[in-house]
Amino acid sequence: MQIPRPLAVAVVSLLAFAARAEEPRPPLPRWAPSIEAGLADAKARGQAFMVALNMDNEAGNQRMLDEVYTSEEFRAASQKCVVAVASLFQHRLLPDAKSGARVCERFGSVTCEQHRAIEDVVRRQWLGRGPKDDVESPRHIFVAPNGKILFQRVWTIEKEDLAALMLRASELCTPERLERWDTLEGRLERAIDPIASVREIALGELIASDDPAVDGKLKETLKSVKDPRIVGSVLAAFAAAGTPERRAIAHDGLTHKDPVVRTMVIHAMGRSGAADHLPLLLARAGKEKETAPRASLYRALGVLGKDDEAAAKAVRKGLGDSDETARANAFAAAAPWAAEKAVKSAARKVLVEGGSQEIRGIAVWLLGLSGDAGLVKTLEEYKSSIGRWDWKLTRAVDAAIAKLSGKDVPNYETYAAWLVQDPALSIAR
Ligand SMILES: [Zn+2]
Repeated sequence: MQIPRPLAVAVVSLLAFAARAEEPRPPLPRWAPSIEAGLADAKARGQAFMVALNMDNEAGNQRMLDEVYTSEEFRAASQKCVVAVASLFQHRLLPDAKSGARVCERFGSVTCEQHRAIEDVVRRQWLGRGPKDDVESPRHIFVAPNGKILFQRVWTIEKEDLAALMLRASELCTPERLERWDTLEGRLERAIDPIASVREIALGELIASDDPAVDGKLKETLKSVKDPRIVGSVLAAFAAAGTPERRAIAHDGLTHKDPVVRTMVIHAMGRSGAADHLPLLLARAGKEKETAPRASLYRALGVLGKDDEAAAKAVRKGLGDSDETARANAFAAAAPWAAEKAVKSAARKVLVEGGSQEIRGIAVWLLGLSGDAGLVKTLEEYKSSIGRWDWKLTRAVDAAIAKLSGKDVPNYETYAAWLVQDPALSIAR
């Protein structure tokens, strides 16, 4: 039998779902019943303590439960790092297979009262948020047995990466390392840690100290580092320093031989919001041969150069970039110039000529920002030509039509990050 391909995919995934529903969920690890109990256990075992913050009714949080916390990798890592779960939500209680006590259906081994009490400590004491504030979740917070927060990682994470963080957190929990944690020596050591989340905090503290002697030591430390992601992190941290002289230390990274370093530095320069980076970025435009740093360069120019004609020119040129990934990032960067005729026609050209889902989605998004209500009809016609399975593009078209029709589309600007990711973001982790 011939089944059209999208339908075939739908049938297969339906079968997969049915098969999955028959199988019992793989067991979850045993969570610590409270922060105090978790810290005491961590102390006794000489390990770190990790609290996983989770919420109901959200796909990313659900995926953590279905694919990560129930994985073999996570269970093995939880032998090396004490774990607890924090959630504001109330669930059904079911008898625990082991003890027979009534426990939370969603997380097992603890009651909802317990995971809610842990959430309260995390929210108020660790993150300083109020009872009604949003707390970005999923989130994993790593704590030393003495209660000191070591580092954290926000948003979803793959099981291998989370396991690596848990093992690293426990390795960092030796008495010697904890004792020198907040000293210059301890921070310099962590500034070149193999784990990005560990580096981030140490580098933030070192850069904020605003001390030329510290800058010198940091640059000295770099000489022994080979991993481009570590070199990139250190140079990128300087991009956000307090003075133009110190921020200029980041500029060494723009001509670094490794494109990973260049991508990370360019991204950090854009994110810093510091106008003194703009001439350096403009000098790189047209010279960058690799896709990832060139894509990040367009994004940075769109942020720092939104009022600058030379930046506008470089991004406009990027709308015709021969590399599709770089070109898609140029479209994402062109928001400040969305109303210009040349920009609109470049985006319409994508709709006619086609291309990856990424580039079509971002071209539609950019048209949505043009303020040109005459484009509603164009987009409606375009929508009728899209397959129903192309849901991401369909959603982009609907949002653009709503925007052009003068409707309120909350966070429309942030859709760009959902449609096309700056390559720097997949390196940084
Ligand atoms: Zn519960």
